[in-house]
Amino acid sequence: MRSRLARHSELRPSPEVLGEWFAATGTRLLTIDPDSSRFAVNSTDGRAYDPGNDIFLGREVGDGTAWFAQSGELANGQSARDAGLSPVLREVVTVGLAIVQWHATSGFCERCGASSTPSNGWFERICSRCGRQIYPRTDPAMICAVLDERDRLLLGHQVSWPTGRCSLLAGFVEAGESAEQAVIREVGEESGVQLSAVRYLASQPWPFPRSLMMGFVARGSGEPVVDGIELGWAQWVSREELAEGLASGEWAVPSSVSIAGRIIARWRAGELPSPD
Ligand SMILES: [Zn+2]
Repeated sequence: MRSRLARHSELRPSPEVLGEWFAATGTRLLTIDPDSSRFAVNSTDGRAYDPGNDIFLGREVGDGTAWFAQSGELANGQSARDAGLSPVLREVVTVGLAIVQWHATSGFCERCGASSTPSNGWFERICSRCGRQIYPRTDPAMICAVLDERDRLLLGHQVSWPTGRCSLLAGFVEAGESAEQAVIREVGEESGVQLSAVRYLASQPWPFPRSLMMGFVARGSGEPVVDGIELGWAQWVSREELAEGLASGEWAVPSSVSIAGRIIARWRAGELPSPD
């Protein structure tokens, strides 16, 4: 899916242009609380652009509305996890939250330990001692719709979730591992199901704090066996079984805000590509 935001990364070090956009009517300023992941949207209210405070996120594709963010404590504010955010708001909050949280937790150089300062319009930091350029790291993660030979879907319930909640199996990609290898390893570790084919579908940035969730569809076989520590149960379900479980309230699956929910919805509609 195309971005709804033109980031204009080449203009991040250009306070003159950004100052004009900041002052324009209709420009939106997000205040983001890095601790609570809450945010508020305001106008810039005639205040002058401050490169030491205001983070340029981009302009909306279409009407050109400019979006900036700043870090700040919020007693109230809207949750970044809110399912009702518009696509544009979801995108700017995801970018803003990733950047604001990164600065809040990344004050020191990982090579020499000296303090670092924001640079390049807040999308970079520079070490004060060794000059190292530091970028916000994104953690790769994977989530997979595992299908058996009868096109049933593997769903799992994490012990930490409310009773009945279930989703696709997921996990982080480890150092030195490809995303496909992580899919095969995680599904095997969590459920004992062995995969014979893995196909990439789509990805979603996940701002809690900075992951990139990559979605896959795979062919698997074998009866699921869980350890009872991470997963409480995992089982193959048909479309009819899932529909009944959701209708009766016995089960709940993620909403379509998340890539997990969208992949499950595509499987229910028979729209997932074959992994083979
Ligand atoms: Zn350093």
